[in-house]
This record gives sequence, structure tokens and C-alpha cells, in this order.
Amino acid sequence: MRRKLAAGNWKMNGTGAALDALDAIATAHPAPTVDILICPPATLLSRASQAILGSAVTLGGQDCHAEASGAHTGDISAAMLADAGAGAVILGHSERRADHAETDAQVCAKTRAALEAGLIAVVCIGETLAEREAGQTLDVVCGQLAGSLPDGITGNQIVVAYEPVWAIGTGKVPTLEQIAEVHDALRGQLVGRYGAETGHGIRLLYGGSVKPGNAAEIFAVSNVDGALVGGASLSAADFSPIVTALE
Ligand code: PGA
Repeated sequence: MRRKLAAGNWKMNGTGAALDALDAIATAHPAPTVDILICPPATLLSRASQAILGSAVTLGGQDCHAEASGAHTGDISAAMLADAGAGAVILGHSERRADHAETDAQVCAKTRAALEAGLIAVVCIGETLAEREAGQTLDVVCGQLAGSLPDGITGNQIVVAYEPVWAIGTGKVPTLEQIAEVHDALRGQLVGRYGAETGHGIRLLYGGSVKPGNAAEIFAVSNVDGALVGGASLSAADFSPIVTALE
């Protein structure tokens, strides 16, 4: 019932030459049975939207401001992302929570702004290694989920990405049991808060060192509807097998 989603987060990587990788990804999957989302840096969105015209790939931003416009030097609004060709935006990534001290309340406000602009919000949550070792994982991620999502949403507007901070870019991955424990808890919380239809409609991605070699086993875990992929989304050689593993 939930369509699976392979999402790529290019982070602060890529100038014009990176559009070749985007083209290669789109060309490799002309008619995928899953959704493919690539989130390049905002500077590439307009050109990327031309590069993927007629393909099955959709584009996303990596952050947006909570306000629609105004005196916020250096920031980008959700409507600007949509205007540049984005259909989605990543919000609350742990690198933004760490580098820019983003709080759950700010992520929630940004999520509202994204939905208002017609974007799908890919809302990221995840525990640090210290929190996991202290046995606080479920408390942390459930607290982040509660604080980062607004009321009054529908399932197809929101994607939640569970990304353990200690697994991002490290080559370390939780056990399949650990992923299942978190995803099942998140699903339960979503159904409890939003009801069965919306709660079961929200896609739950796993993110953190997803590679061609571990994608299939992660995708077989209960309540994993796809992946948010960082490093391995930068080339078609790595990302394409991940898309195929999800199909
Ligand atoms: P990674 O990053 O796949 O490079 O670990 C994932 C992410 O930060 O979204």
C-alpha cells in the first residue's frame, strides 16, 4: 500500500558536472516500480529539473526556511524550492540539527512551510551513539518524531527517515533487529497520533551507510519503506543497485 522510496541526499556535494550522475540514475530506471528522489544542493535544482525532464526521478531540497519570504539572508523558502523544480525537501537532518542547532520545534515549523508550498517533507530523526549506549534510543526518536511533525497531516505528504547519527557516513549500520525495533515503534506512534489511514500511509525510510551490499537485507525489515542514502547516492554505480534492491 505504501509505495517504496529510494531517496538520495547529495549534501554539500556537486557542481554542474554532477548532473551526469543524475542523468545516469534517471536513464538506468526509465520505469521504476518505486519512487526515486534525488536531493542535490539547491544551486543545482533548476538545472537538475531540466536534466530529469520526462524521467521518473523527482527532486528535493535539503532544507527550507519556515517563513515564505523576507529578510533572511542566505535562506531559501519552500516555495523557492518548488519553483526551482523540487517536489520534496529533507528537513531536520542530523547535520542541520548539529551544524545549525535546529530544534524539533523549528523542524516542525519548516515542515508546515513545506506542506504549504506543496512539497513532500522528508523529516529526519535519529539518536547519537551516546544516547543508544544509554538505552535512550526509543525515547529520543519518539520525542523527535512527536516534536518535529505538525498536526493535521495526511500520509502522502510526509516521509520519516530514521537515521542513527552514528551510522551516517561511518560504514556502521544497526542490526536488522535494531532497525525493526525503531521502525515498529515509529509506526505505532504515527498510527496512535494520526489514526490508521494516515499513520500507515507515512513512509518510513532507514538512512545511515546504506550501500548496494546491505540494501536488500535492510529493505526486508518490517516497516522499512526505503532508504535515505548519502554517499552512495552520488554515483549511479552505487545508487542504481539500491533502487533495484527496493523494487
Ligand atoms: P550516508 O548518509 O548514506 O552517507 O551514511 C545518509 C544521510 O545522511 O542521509
